[in-house]
Amino acid sequence: MDRLEDLDHGVNVAIIGAGWAGMAAAVALAQAKTPVTVFEPARHLGGRARTVEIEGLALDNGQHILIGAYRETLRMMRTVGADPDRLLLRAPLAIVYPGKFSLRAPRLPAPLHLLAALLSAGGLGWGERIAAIRFMMAMRGRAYRLDADMPVAELLALHRQGGAPARYLWEPLCVSALNTPAASASAQVFLNLLRDALDGARANSDFLVPRADLGKLFPQPAAAFVQAKGGSVRLGAPVRTLDKGADGFVLDLGAERYSHVILAVGPHQVDPLLDRFAALAPIRQSVAALAYEPIYTCYLQYPQEVSMPQPMTGFDGGSVQWIFDRGRLNGAPGLLAAVISARGAHQNATQGALASAIHAELAAFLPGLPPPLWTRVIAEKRATFSCRPGIARPENRTAVEQLYLAGDYTASDYPATLESAVRSGVLAARLVCQR
Ligand SMILES: Cc1cc2nc3c(=O)[nH]c(=O)nc-3n(C[C@H](O)[C@H](O)[C@H](O)COP(=O)(O)OP(=O)(O)OC[C@H]3O[C@@H](n4cnc5c(N)ncnc54)[C@H](O)[C@@H]3O)c2cc1C
Repeated sequence: MDRLEDLDHGVNVAIIGAGWAGMAAAVALAQAKTPVTVFEPARHLGGRARTVEIEGLALDNGQHILIGAYRETLRMMRTVGADPDRLLLRAPLAIVYPGKFSLRAPRLPAPLHLLAALLSAGGLGWGERIAAIRFMMAMRGRAYRLDADMPVAELLALHRQGGAPARYLWEPLCVSALNTPAASASAQVFLNLLRDALDGARANSDFLVPRADLGKLFPQPAAAFVQAKGGSVRLGAPVRTLDKGADGFVLDLGAERYSHVILAVGPHQVDPLLDRFAALAPIRQSVAALAYEPIYTCYLQYPQEVSMPQPMTGFDGGSVQWIFDRGRLNGAPGLLAAVISARGAHQNATQGALASAIHAELAAFLPGLPPPLWTRVIAEKRATFSCRPGIARPENRTAVEQLYLAGDYTASDYPATLESAVRSGVLAARLVCQR
């Protein structure tokens, strides 16, 4: 995005919510020398992508992964002085299910890297490799656009992607990226990601795994950036009501007036803040219609010598989808993070039972694995909206002048991700500047 233009006086913006969307909006506005105040009920920044303290360690409330195609997130990190090259481990696309499947993209220009990766993938027969290449070429031939959206599973079936390609490649990519199972996920949003990640520049397909806790990646340096430019970030400051009077927006009947508001709360938190705006009933209806998917992260601390063969390992057949070795990533030896995206039977287990089941899955893979020293399950029940075909996502501009939305659920060709959150925040800031 171009640098935002400096603004006239008379503008002061309230941003409600200090997640990645709200902080991206705040940074973009502060950069444009616009007075900005961020309100956040929690005592920490970052919303769903935040740091939590567990057993004296600064950990993430859920293991996150970025990809090279997250251009706005990477650009905004650089803007606030958070160097992605230092804070993120950049690794070429590699999907490894030990003993079952492996796909590694060599450092070749796109799309040769993908072609070579598919041709050399372990665990696929020749027929499956050719079918997977044909699928990508067919999608490329139609510019990754579908005439009508459909579930990912249906698209895969139409293109004969059953067997190992579906099980180890497309379905895991779908559930990790869209946090929605292939049977109900939007094929169009999935294709948007394939287009950018697999058919853009080679580096777009790189996995970027945080080396530092999530707070340090963006929210904390973003707040420092905003404050250094004269903006304000108020923690422990929930906004309960939002109204518009003749002289501007009023928050909680307070004395302050704001010329503009960017509402950057999660989708399930939007409704009460819009109930005084009759014109915004359609937004309230569209967020009410969203369904949600959970993400469970289980941290298991083993003795320091325990490690996985690679930073990120695929699991199938049990409840775990990916194991991240935090020792290899963040210098926390022996600490493994197990990730389970989307809904499933694991939601019926108690946290203790789930941690035990995950340990058993790990022990089957790492013979002689000692019991964990401690475990902690973080269950984010509404981690993201369920990214299904044809859902209505509200635009950032609303029917109320000078009131904008930001957040991962707003209109975007990406699913609920850090990138869609950051893009929405930057876009909302741009709309303020274009007033
Ligand atoms: C466990 C987990 C794992 C994930 N993994 C990945 C991943 O690997 N890669 C990826 O790209 N994305 C991932 N995501 C998704 C990503 O975290 C979200 O898409 C992103 O953080 C959403 O940011 P946001 O700013 O739109 O919303 P939020 O983070 O929800 O921020 C909204 C903020 O508004 C605040 N707020 C709410 N009500 C009020 C109020 N009344 N007044 C003031 N403030 C209020 C909230 O406290 C919160 O801080 C994951 C999410 C979870 C939960």
